[in-house]
Amino acid sequence: AVGEQREFDYFNFALQWPGTQCKNTRHCCPSNGCCRGSNAPTEFTIHGLWPDYNDGTWPSCCKKSKFDEKEISTLLDALEQYWPSYRCGSTSTCYSGEGLFWAHEWEKHGTCSFPVVRDEYSYFSTTLNLYFKYNVTRVLNEAGYLPSNTEKYPLGGIVSAIQNAFHATPKLDCSKDAVNELHLCFYKDFKPRDCIIERSPENDNYFSSSSCPKYVSLPVYMS
Ligand code: 5GP
Ligand code: 5GP
Repeated sequence: AVGEQREFDYFNFALQWPGTQCKNTRHCCPSNGCCRGSNAPTEFTIHGLWPDYNDGTWPSCCKKSKFDEKEISTLLDALEQYWPSYRCGSTSTCYSGEGLFWAHEWEKHGTCSFPVVRDEYSYFSTTLNLYFKYNVTRVLNEAGYLPSNTEKYPLGGIVSAIQNAFHATPKLDCSKDAVNELHLCFYKDFKPRDCIIERSPENDNYFSSSSCPKYVSLPVYMS
């Protein structure tokens, strides 16, 4: 029931890759045109900040607190740019019916981040601050992993570049060979920590246990 889930163990900061997201949604980003033509970003954008448990599960919809756009009015410009939705139409939420992607993230995940993050404004401002502080796109670009529709990059190289920059292991998620999401993990005091990566019994290759193959792409969306 609402409010009865135990306190989370760590934060999972989920970023999404626009080139892959836009391909999967087929041109349909009416709200801000984020997938259209030259508007399609070539930087990771925010999916959400997710409180997780160390056993691989997570709480959701913890505290009945409806999303209220007025509380984050001063953040809207930044959110539109760095936390866009790549889906058509509205999204289900825990408490306020169909709504914005932001409403979904706050109600499903943000309400479970107590007592570290106490309200809607701090959920969004904390997440934006993490995004600016841990610039994954810049780290990858500096290591030579640039957005491209022809290049394939070794997954292990991408993981190493992030490890070297932030001293923690990220988790990647792919759609075929295209990077779809990249997750960074943090202790409750926001120091970086390793994400939890499931290893498969058939394969002792640490990285191939994710949904990504050994060589991955960072596609640029072309409408
Ligand atoms: P998917 O199945 O697309 O990976 O995830 C679907 C939804 O499940 C996500 O939008 C997210 O809300 C939730 N989810 C998936 N993996 C995790 C996780 O590791 N931690 C948390 N907190 N939620 C997750
Ligand atoms: P999750 O529960 O996985 O955090 O959030 C996924 C929900 O948000 C789904 O209902 C999905 O349709 C919706 N959604 C809206 N915009 C986006 C987006 O840009 N990326 C993803 N992954 N989901 C989105």
